[in-house]
Amino acid sequence: MKLLEFEAKAILREYGLRVSPGRVATTPEEAELIAREIGRPVVLKAQIPVAGRGKAGGILFASGPAEAAEMAARLIGSTIKESLVSQLLVEEALEIESEYYLSVTVDRVVKRYAVLASTAGGVDIEQVALVSPERLARYWTDPASGFGEEKAREMLGQFDLSDDIAGELASVLATLFSAAMDKDAELVELNPLVRTASAEFVAADARMIVDDNALFRHEEFAGRSLTREDETSLESEARKQSLAYVDLPGDTGVVGNGAGLVMATVDLVHHFGGSPANFLDIGGGGDVDITRRGLLLVLSKPEVKGVVVNIFGGITRCDLVAQAVVEARREAAVVKPIAVSMMGTNEAEGKRMLDEAGVMNFPTMEEAVQGILKAQAGL
Ligand code: GDP
Ligand code: MN
Repeated sequence: MKLLEFEAKAILREYGLRVSPGRVATTPEEAELIAREIGRPVVLKAQIPVAGRGKAGGILFASGPAEAAEMAARLIGSTIKESLVSQLLVEEALEIESEYYLSVTVDRVVKRYAVLASTAGGVDIEQVALVSPERLARYWTDPASGFGEEKAREMLGQFDLSDDIAGELASVLATLFSAAMDKDAELVELNPLVRTASAEFVAADARMIVDDNALFRHEEFAGRSLTREDETSLESEARKQSLAYVDLPGDTGVVGNGAGLVMATVDLVHHFGGSPANFLDIGGGGDVDITRRGLLLVLSKPEVKGVVVNIFGGITRCDLVAQAVVEARREAAVVKPIAVSMMGTNEAEGKRMLDEAGVMNFPTMEEAVQGILKAQAGL
């Protein structure tokens, strides 16, 4: 889950990091009022969950309240990097002397948290890593001993920094690491951390991504309408309905009971030259409602040309799955072919119900997969 800049800053402020005074505005009038309260030049920043807003026109400066209203009117309602701008962070503008890049992030290759620091802040860090790697310091943390100011000082040793500056940066890095641990963050990033003309260190920009899998233990993020990292709209709909659903790029819907069986079915679709459109595990038990809703979700995906349903009836009763398939097929907005393979508990009854409703069913899952691919090809 990506936090917006103002949300990340609110958290980091609790950890003692310095942030410019400011608030969120949703109208030009509010932006004007905030600028008046601040009483100095302000920066207006589009609150959208993407980086690189500056270059895309999402960061504007205003010398006073009237200009702030003008700039806000320009930003609110506009689309920047495919995101609609509805909120602005209006902050006192900083007098920047130098900019630094500091972050704590998960390195999936090394399987550790990595701490990064650069004396080239405010620019694209990937670019720094490529063009001037000597300006980027990295430290892979050890989960047992963690990361504190001492280690931060060590890693900053590769730069030619004054003692004061190195001390300040080390303290901020240690703080970012604590925040990342406490919040189960995949990323906490300041780009830039600014040293102002009056020698203060201020977080000018902050980004934070919280691990979706850890959200259950963070009450503070509950009930928020933020979209999850990398979640498609169907996946988000499925999550709300407690369905185990993953989108895939193909055109054959795949439904089964049990993750292993669904994976095997996904593989079979590939094996027979098809391309799966999704993964949906209806779980054990074969609840009619869950199965019906799951199938309807898969059938609603425009790319889906046909669906294969693969059931191994243990606790799951084949007759209940058959009932759900028949109901979903009747309720679906668009008629699409469905091929079923079911074996196990109440198999005969289930197949009788499918035959009666005219739903294709096959004795093995191989045949069901081949059956649906043939039906799709004939469309
Ligand atoms: P991003 O483009 O989405 O990363 O947005 P930032 O908040 O990082 O802003 C982009 C750039 O605008 C920063 O790197 C700074 O150079 C500049 N900037 C942001 N806030 C201020 C400010 O208060 N004063 C000044 N002078 N520049 C700022
Ligand atoms: Mn930035």
